[in-house]
Amino acid sequence: MTVGQRPGPLIVPIASKPMALRFVIIGGGPAGTQAATYAARLGAEVTLIERDVVGGAAHLWDCVPSKAMIATGAAYEDISAAAEMGVQVDVPEVDLPLLRTRIGGIVGRLATVGRQLLESQGVRIIEGVGRLSGPRTVVVATTGPDGSGSEEELEADAILVSTGSRPRIPDFAQPDGERVLTTRDAYPPRELPRHLVVIGSGVTGVEFVHMFSSFGSKVTLVVSRQQVLPQKDPEVAAVLEEDFLRRGVKLLKGARAVGLDRTDDGVVVRCDDGRVVEGSHALLAIGSIPNSEGLGLEAAGVAVGDGGYVTTSDHHLRTNVAHIYVAGDLSGKLPLSSVASMQGRKIAEHVMGMHIVSHRHLDYDKAASAIFTDPEIADVGLAEADAFAVGRKVRVTKVPFATTAKALINGDTRGFVKIVSDPATGVVLGGSIVGRHAAELISVIALAVTAGLRVSDIAESLMVHPALAEALADAAE
Ligand SMILES: Cc1cc2nc3c(=O)[nH]c(=O)nc-3n(C[C@H](O)[C@H](O)[C@H](O)COP(=O)(O)OP(=O)(O)OC[C@H]3O[C@@H](n4cnc5c(N)ncnc54)[C@H](O)[C@@H]3O)c2cc1C
Repeated sequence: MTVGQRPGPLIVPIASKPMALRFVIIGGGPAGTQAATYAARLGAEVTLIERDVVGGAAHLWDCVPSKAMIATGAAYEDISAAAEMGVQVDVPEVDLPLLRTRIGGIVGRLATVGRQLLESQGVRIIEGVGRLSGPRTVVVATTGPDGSGSEEELEADAILVSTGSRPRIPDFAQPDGERVLTTRDAYPPRELPRHLVVIGSGVTGVEFVHMFSSFGSKVTLVVSRQQVLPQKDPEVAAVLEEDFLRRGVKLLKGARAVGLDRTDDGVVVRCDDGRVVEGSHALLAIGSIPNSEGLGLEAAGVAVGDGGYVTTSDHHLRTNVAHIYVAGDLSGKLPLSSVASMQGRKIAEHVMGMHIVSHRHLDYDKAASAIFTDPEIADVGLAEADAFAVGRKVRVTKVPFATTAKALINGDTRGFVKIVSDPATGVVLGGSIVGRHAAELISVIALAVTAGLRVSDIAESLMVHPALAEALADAAE
């Protein structure tokens, strides 16, 4: 479970409280830990099987270490730019061993807190590798301190498979953890790249471009289309491209990487249009593939669809075997930690029969997401371009942060707030924010979208002054 996302009070009348139901979960990422916590709270007998770290890849490899690296990069840049704020400092230096220790400390702390929270709810945690051995049985293989292996078979009334995903490796590349890196080799790498070639210009790719350019590395980004973040609003992508160019990042647009070779002291990336780029290191950020192998899904009769994602048969995230659920990246829905957590919570409620009373289905179209570049980019709900594409009439209001006192005080006037609403009712349908703290500020629009609030609800909120949030109120006018 994501720390800070504690379950709220759940009132279950004693008379209707179900008998202890045996719920076995394979995979302790955001989906698995959240499902475990909620189901245990509702009275289930929960066993959670995790082979690495409680908190999952989200904590060990993805969300947490990447944002910790970005935070250190931001500190490095802030110190380098301190003279502009009137502070003279010596030239800063990145201490890689110290950075590695810091990231390890954060991951360790989160794992400890996550484990304590689960245990406090009565969840049994088994450190081992789980697999289905039948529709109602899970086998867990554990390794003792002396290296000896043993297996335990668990019977279950309900099962959740939430084993996540791992980086996709293209046929033309062979990661070696030294020069050819996946995202998992970069927290931090053994040395700061002199010249990093990033392959993949989606969310992960641009975060790594930002991360390493803030540490002072020269970066080249291979962009297969004509725009970084091809799925995003062009106006939003343009702000990021401007920042990349300001940092000296080289954008190789309209080029698809088709070859990657190591040289004695670097890498050579070949593109399909004949262009070749030499760098000291390459980083692969071309998406992920699901961890669905070796799980015994066939033994349990669970259907697996295209690309290895487990097929869901309804919005409760049940597979074709009614008491076996799938959540998180393995479900092939929206690959976000926040979505995985919410799926876990909804599954726990369904397993425990809570969905017979009124409840809200998970709506993926209302998931807020953020990109932790500088400026940050965040959006939620209906995008202006998507409304335009389907011919839907919307009202779009945009206010630049430069109009707020706080942006001037921060010395950073970049970016804007955009709110998309229904012109007839004023109901907020979506929005995007580019700028400092966009990932935090988007929560206001996310709440409005989920709760069906109107723009007037935002405009009439008494916001703090001076604050960047004032741009939100102005955009809602
Ligand atoms: C670089 C990067 C940065 C990201 N940053 C963000 C971000 O900032 N915000 C955000 O919302 N999302 C982010 N994501 C996406 C996010 O990490 C995933 O969507 C999220 O981790 C999915 O959660 P999950 O529960 O499906 O699985 P995971 O977090 O992948 O956890 C699955 C767990 O299952 C365990 N497991 C697998 N097989 C077995 C088995 N057989 N037995 C026992 N255990 C097993 C694994 O060890 C793992 O711990 C990022 C992704 C990447 C690649």
